[in-house]
Amino acid sequence: MPGSRQARVPDNGLRAVVLDIEGTTGSLGHVRDVLFPYARERFAPWLAAHRGTAPWRQILDAVTAHTGTAHDEASALALLEQWADADVKAAPLKTLQGLIWADGYAAGELCGHVYPDVPPALRHWKSRGTGRFVYSSGSVAAQRDWFGHTAHGDLRPLLDGYFDLTTTGPKADPDSYRAIAADLGHAPADLLFVSDVGAELDAAAAAGWRTAAVRRPGDERAAVTGHEAVASLTPLVSRPGPGGPAAPVDTHTQEHPNDE
Ligand SMILES: [Mg+2]
Repeated sequence: MPGSRQARVPDNGLRAVVLDIEGTTGSLGHVRDVLFPYARERFAPWLAAHRGTAPWRQILDAVTAHTGTAHDEASALALLEQWADADVKAAPLKTLQGLIWADGYAAGELCGHVYPDVPPALRHWKSRGTGRFVYSSGSVAAQRDWFGHTAHGDLRPLLDGYFDLTTTGPKADPDSYRAIAADLGHAPADLLFVSDVGAELDAAAAAGWRTAAVRRPGDERAAVTGHEAVASLTPLVSRPGPGGPAAPVDTHTQEHPNDE
């Protein structure tokens, strides 16, 4: 495995972990209450400020490609706002949100939310030579920005790669997980997908992956059934299970115990 200092396969054969963001490694509320509104109120000014530039053209072309109909700025804006209000996971929307958030991270106005158990789990898997990847509906650029600007510092050195809707496909489609497994060059049975959404976990399981369902404390949604249930990543690295070793781990790190 690239970057692995450990030639041998870990005891349980786990080659890589693929993590969802919202509701899994980061707070669902942060996306809904902070990031989405931050981008939503900047769609119109962003398009106006970038009118005629390459990124502006990229967004209009993406809306046209997504809908199969030509759009000018006004009609594209109306659609983007409509998608945002309905939380439609449309790639052009995700691209525009990512561009706007990048400005916010650069300006120090935004920070990616990451639960405190995530950095030690990533360090653990890294120490064992287990690959660490992210698969989110948010664009790869937005994922990098999220993990690059957290209360725990820049976590990008702990991650090996990122997958999104455009690189891989919908998260509830088993083919997406087959594509990731092929890309990583590992058998699906040696890969673990961790998410808070049952349909995504079902898709990964249908593709032969190991799965773990995260339901964070305070998340009021019904529990996901049919998959191992955990409240954080810690059980996945501290006891036998779909992601864990037989041996205990260094979880020295509840460094931000009050950070939700
Ligand atoms: Mg999620």
